[in-house]
Amino acid sequence: MEFDDYRGVWVFIEEKDGHIAPVSLELLGAGRRLADKRGAELAGVVIGDQVGTLADTVFEYGADVVYLYDDPIFKHYRTETFMKALLACTQKYKPEIILYGATSTGKDLASAVATDLPTGLTADTTILDVEEDTGLLLASRPAFGGNIMATILCKKYRPQMATVRPKVMKALPPESGRRGRLIAESIPLREDEVRTKVLDIVKDTVKHVRIDEADVIVAGGKGLGSPGGFQLIHQLAGVLGAAVGGSRDVVEAGWIEHHHQVGQTGVTVTPKIYFAIGISGAIQHLVGMQNSGLIIAINKDPEAAIFQACHYGIVGDAFEIVPMLIEQFNDVLH
Ligand code: FAD
Repeated sequence: MEFDDYRGVWVFIEEKDGHIAPVSLELLGAGRRLADKRGAELAGVVIGDQVGTLADTVFEYGADVVYLYDDPIFKHYRTETFMKALLACTQKYKPEIILYGATSTGKDLASAVATDLPTGLTADTTILDVEEDTGLLLASRPAFGGNIMATILCKKYRPQMATVRPKVMKALPPESGRRGRLIAESIPLREDEVRTKVLDIVKDTVKHVRIDEADVIVAGGKGLGSPGGFQLIHQLAGVLGAAVGGSRDVVEAGWIEHHHQVGQTGVTVTPKIYFAIGISGAIQHLVGMQNSGLIIAINKDPEAAIFQACHYGIVGDAFEIVPMLIEQFNDVLH
C-alpha cells in the first residue's frame, strides 16, 4: 500500500429529513484543523436523495470539496447502499483520513466500510490530532473503565478512520458565501439489486428531548430505588423542559432505555446544566458528563464521588428534595 497516494481529510455528512446532523458540522471543524496541519483539502461526503443543496452548508462550515451522491436509492439510510457509495468514492479519490459521527448511522457505516476496505477504525473518539509529517491520525478515547486515555494509531492501512462522539468537537462559525468544488458521483446500483428494503418508518411518538442536544439534563441513578421512584426525574425534567438521562445501572434495570444512558458506554453530554440525582459518580458515568457547564448533584451519601465532580452538591434524600425543586421551578417557570 502506497501511503503517499492517500491525501486529504473527509467527513461523512449525516443527513436526516434535509438537515445535516450537528455532529457532522462539528467534525468539519475538527477535520479542518487536521487538514490544515497536513496542508491538505477537507472534503464532505454527502449521500442522500435531493441533498444537493446541503453542499453549500458543508462549504460554509469549512470543506473545500463536496463529493455528492444524490439519488432516490439513497432516500433512506441502508448500510448496503451507503457503504457501496462510500467505498467507491474512497477507492477513487483515496483520502488519508475519514471521520464519522459516533451515531447509530455513523457507527454502522464506518464499521461496514472498515471491514470491506479493509482498514482500522477507532470508535468513540474524543480527541483527534494528526502528526504533521507522517499523517498518522492520533485518535484518543477513554479506555480501561475510563481510567486512562488511549491513543490509537492505524500504522499499516489507509485511509485511517474514526467515529467521534457528538458534542465533543467544535463546529467552526459558518462563513456565509464560502464555496468549494462540488463533485457529483454515482454508483451503478439498481433498487432491485439491494437486499434491504425500507417498508415503513415508524416514528417514536413519545415527545422527548435528545440528551446529546439538550441544554438541560436531569439524570437519575439507582438511588431512585424503583421505576416508580424514577418518575420524579421525568417530572423534574418536564417542568424544566429538560432531557432525561440515566446511569448504566438504571438502564440495565430497565427503568429507562439505553439511548438515555450517560457515560462511557452511553452518550457523552455537555449541557449547560446537568442534574445528577441518586447517582454515585462512578468514573464511567463522570467521563460522559464532566464537561457540563453546571453540575448539580443530589445524593444522601455525603461521601459520594459525585460531590467531587459537581459545582453544587445537595446532601439529602431525593424524595424530599426533588419534589421541592419541582414545586419551586413550577412556580417560577409556569
Ligand atoms: P449506584 O452506584 O448504586 O449509586 C446510587 C447512589 O444513589 C448512591 O451514591 C447512593 O448514596 C444514592 N442514593 C441512594 N438512595 C438515595 C436517595 N433516596 N436520595 C439520594 N441519593 C440516594 N455507568 C454509567 O452511568 N454510564 C456508563 O456509560 C457506564 N459504563 C460502564 C462501562 C464499564 C466497562 C463498567 C465496568 C461500568 C460502567 N458503568 C457505567 C457502571 C458504573 O461503574 C456504575 O456502576 C454506575 O454508574 C452506578 O450507577 P448509579 O450511580 O445509578 O448507582
